[in-house]
Amino acid sequence: MRAVVLADVGRVEVADVPEPSIEEPDDAILRVSTSAICGSDLHFLHGKAPLDVGRTIGHEAVGIVEAVGPGVARISPAQRVVVSFVIACGACWFCRGGQTQLCESSRNLGAGAFGGDLQGAQAELVRVPHADFNLLVVPDELDDELAVFLGDVGTTAYYGAAIAGIEQGDTVAVVGVGPVGFVAIHAARLLGAGSLLALDQEPGRLGLAEAAGAEPVNVTERNPRTAVDEATGGRGADVVIEAVGHPEAFETAVDVARRGGTVAVVGMYAGETIPMQLGVYWARALDIRFAGICPVHAWWERTLAEMAAGRLDPRPVISHRLPLEKAPLGYELFDAKEASKVLLLP
Ligand code: ZN
Ligand code: ZN
Repeated sequence: MRAVVLADVGRVEVADVPEPSIEEPDDAILRVSTSAICGSDLHFLHGKAPLDVGRTIGHEAVGIVEAVGPGVARISPAQRVVVSFVIACGACWFCRGGQTQLCESSRNLGAGAFGGDLQGAQAELVRVPHADFNLLVVPDELDDELAVFLGDVGTTAYYGAAIAGIEQGDTVAVVGVGPVGFVAIHAARLLGAGSLLALDQEPGRLGLAEAAGAEPVNVTERNPRTAVDEATGGRGADVVIEAVGHPEAFETAVDVARRGGTVAVVGMYAGETIPMQLGVYWARALDIRFAGICPVHAWWERTLAEMAAGRLDPRPVISHRLPLEKAPLGYELFDAKEASKVLLLP
């Protein structure tokens, strides 16, 4: 079968790889109909996270169940499903409590040795462990382009907005309006936000955010603090959603929050460090919440319901739909920020 594999640091290629097979009784094999390139795939492309050359990449996919192991009860062949980017066991203490991202044996598809060494989803077929738990059946009214957002970006954004404690009429600032930030704007509106501000440095992203009803603030042209102060009578945002995962974005998020405000940190961090003026945070009574990786399983049904009702639609963020064979071009465009979201169609 054909799959997107790491060819070298900075380069992917589409190669012939062995087809996956059922290895554990609760595995399923998924025939992928739509997959997507995610910002975190770029960490592997750039060699910031280890992935062996020749390994399949990708963790966002929708498809048709091709086969299931004898231990799979809830999922059956021919069902259309979306896969969770967090591959959890479904049985440990954390999973039972809905914190599936903290699963004792949490893994990710296509994420190399530190991600559990599973093959990725940018392929014709992919093996999904603990299939009953990690696959969600997609209703007919939800097309692949919507459903592919349930496994990661759409659900992550909805979760991020939901844990931010938005109250009716709040002013919400979203720092970073890439795919997650874009969906977070919609989710914040659903959850009661009165006015919304979108902070970014990419005009294309800001244009999408503006079309979604947020006031765009280009942080390369305006001081973010001044811009948010102007929009809030000098007070600052009630809630800030940081959807970048960069120290500068974190500092901006903290900066534009009002005294007593909440900052939800959805962007992904690894080894970054910043000097923190604890007294300033303390005196401002800031509530800073680290979202961590999204516990997809606890949130994807809610996200699906909002999508099915037509209240949450991430599709405007899709800029490219490419055949799987053109994946290298997709990576190139996405890496150069010339693409906002790339779907790959096997
Ligand atoms: Zn992703
Ligand atoms: Zn678990």
